[in-house]
Order: sequence, then structure tokens, then C-alpha cells
Amino acid sequence: MKKKIKAELSSRIKHLPPYLFASIDKMKQNALAKGVDLIDLSIGDPDIPTPSRIVSAMKKAVEKPVHHRYPSYEGMLSYREAVAKWYKKRFNVRLDTRTEVLSLIGSKEGIGHIPLAFVNPGDTVLVPSPGYPVYSIGTLFAGGESYFMPLMEENDFLPDLDAIPKKVLQKAKLIFINYPNNPTSAVAPREFLQEVVRIALKYNIIVCHDASYTEIYYDRKPLSFMQIPGAKDVGIEFHSLSKTYNMTGWRIGFAVGNREVLAGLGKIKTNLDSGVFQAIQEAAIAALDIDQNSLSGIRKTYQKRRDVLYAGLKKLGMHLRKPKATFYIWVKIPPHFDSMSFVTHMLDKAGVLATPGNGFGEAGEGYVRFALTASEDRIREAVDRIKKIV
Ligand SMILES: *Cc1c(COP(=O)(O)O)cnc(C)c1O
Repeated sequence: MKKKIKAELSSRIKHLPPYLFASIDKMKQNALAKGVDLIDLSIGDPDIPTPSRIVSAMKKAVEKPVHHRYPSYEGMLSYREAVAKWYKKRFNVRLDTRTEVLSLIGSKEGIGHIPLAFVNPGDTVLVPSPGYPVYSIGTLFAGGESYFMPLMEENDFLPDLDAIPKKVLQKAKLIFINYPNNPTSAVAPREFLQEVVRIALKYNIIVCHDASYTEIYYDRKPLSFMQIPGAKDVGIEFHSLSKTYNMTGWRIGFAVGNREVLAGLGKIKTNLDSGVFQAIQEAAIAALDIDQNSLSGIRKTYQKRRDVLYAGLKKLGMHLRKPKATFYIWVKIPPHFDSMSFVTHMLDKAGVLATPGNGFGEAGEGYVRFALTASEDRIREAVDRIKKIV
């Protein structure tokens, strides 16, 4: 008999919560195999291509042999300068290019790695629920424990910081927040961000603000956490080119803010990865340099889709808020369903796929998330089909 090794998974992998999105993907594949004309509103991945200016910059850069070698760990100086310039222009926030900007292989990479730099086994990390799954998974991989802060509709989907027990705050090393928010699409007011700075200073907690959606807005421009006085003393902000410039496949992002926190994250990264392909950094420089008003076309596209889906679902008597930002709509499910059974019902009976809210954490149960990543016509068609089944 042929001998082979037994690949026993580590306990950190074995103890991962079930990955709901994998089972959704299976359901989707099954539907497609059956020939269903699927309208997929489940993915947070723009269907609009990367602007051609950015693609051209990449084409030019890829020809240059200087870019074929290992990149610098913290990002090319010119890339970090472009980030600093963009922050000044967009948020009026001044950043030191050398110490307050760090390149990332997409913001997910930095978010996933930051607990490794600051969380010891048994330490507490404050994590929003519902929330982007990487906050709690990164915490788990570092041996930390997530304390989930529920985002409730009655609190405008902001965590109630006063409700966190003092003992938990004293043990907390890190807090993740994310506004404009995925999946609820909530926007944080200045007062909330000020309160985060106050609590962080009082209890010595590192703030990690995920700002992936600041450029997908429909009325007032959302704030950067870095605009709040004292923000740089307590934490960092993760940012991404993925959503702003339809560059999810390119894998480039950055973190800015507190230099000690960035240095800690940088230390993990120098030991694990070797930075971002420089041609991609050149493309990102071109992106950050684009006249920001020219992005209004992208925003308008999402806005039209938002209006169609919002009005359509509202007319069906569903309970939802009109998003002020992000390309998501967070919708309360009708009675007699839970998140997963409603998603299954919509898929089986209407060929429309949304994401069950509990996939983002327990507090997301009772909701589904629709992503505005299909054309206006398809969204209109989705509403027509849902009308027949609710
Ligand atoms: C999409 C997304 C990210 C990840 O973006 P990348 O830069 O592509 O890794 C991070 N946070 C949230 C909340 C997101 O929705």
C-alpha cells in the first residue's frame, strides 16, 4: 500500500466558524448549472471596469525592467507621496510620507495582519457585528478573542460604546470600525468618531478604521477618521483603491496614521511578504492623480441603481433605509423567514441572489444585503421577480 502523510489541520483552522459564503457559492453554482438566469446581487465586487487611464499607466509601467525586481517593503516613495497628496486634497489631512503611509496588498491584507503585530493570545479585540469577516478572523489567527459590538438599527448601525463593559475595554488591545459601513451602508457622524478617540485614549486601545468606502457616496462626502483631532495619536486608517477605482483584482491598498502602529504592521509584513508589484503601484499613482470629479460618473451609476432597488423594495413593503454611501442596501427580511431561508427562497423562486446578514456576524441575522453590482435593468428585473414571491 502506498504510504502518504496525513495533513492534519491546525486548530486555528479547524476552529474557524463555518464560512457561509462558501455554501452560498455552492448554491449559486448549482443554480447556474441548472440554467437559471441568475441575477447576482451578492458580491461586493464592482461590475464596472477600471478606468482606462489606470490601465494605460499599468501597460507602460510593466515594460520597465526597474519594476521587475523586488519592490520596497513599505511601498515606492512616489506611491506613498501620491497617497499623502490625495489625503491632503480629499480630507485636508497632512501625512508624513515616510512614516505615516504604508502600502498594502489590498486593505484586506493589512486588516488581516494587524492583530499579529499587537494582539497576544487571550487579548480582546472589539469587532463590529455585522462586519467584514476579516476583523474577527485576523483576531482569531493571532490567538485573540473578538468581543462583538452589535450594530443595531436603533443606534443608526453605530456600536454603542457605552454598553461595552469596563472590564472588556480594559482588556481590549484593538478596535475595528468601518464607515461608510459594509454591510449596513451607515455613515458615521463626527461625534461618534470623536467618542472613539476619547475611549481609545482612556483605555489605551489601538483604533483601526476601515475606510474602503469613503468615495462611494451619494450626498455629503464621508469623513476620514484622520480628520478627527487626536486620531493619529490612537490609530490608523485602512484604505483601498478597490472600490473607488474598480480595482479589486489589482490588489493594492494602504494604511495611514499613527507611525508606531504602522511600524508594527510593517514589521509583520517585511517578514511575510515582499510588497506590491511596482507596475501596480504606478497604476495606483495614476488612479490617485485622477481628477476626483471624474469619478462622479461611477457614483451616479450606483446612485441610479440604488434608487431603483430602494424604491422597488420599499414598494413591496420591505423595511430598509436609503443608503447615503457604499454600494450596498441592508434590508430587513419579511416575517417567517431567517436570513438564510430568505436568501434560499429568493434564489429558488426568483433567481435573485443576495447575501444573508448572519454571514457578517450574529447581529446581522434578520437582514440581507443587496449589492448594487449589476446593471439598472437587471436590478429592475430583480425587483419584478421578488414582487412575485413576497
Ligand atoms: C472590499 C472591502 C475591503 C477589502 O478591500 P481590498 O482593498 O480589495 O482588500 C475591506 N474592507 C471592507 C469593509 C470591504 O468591503
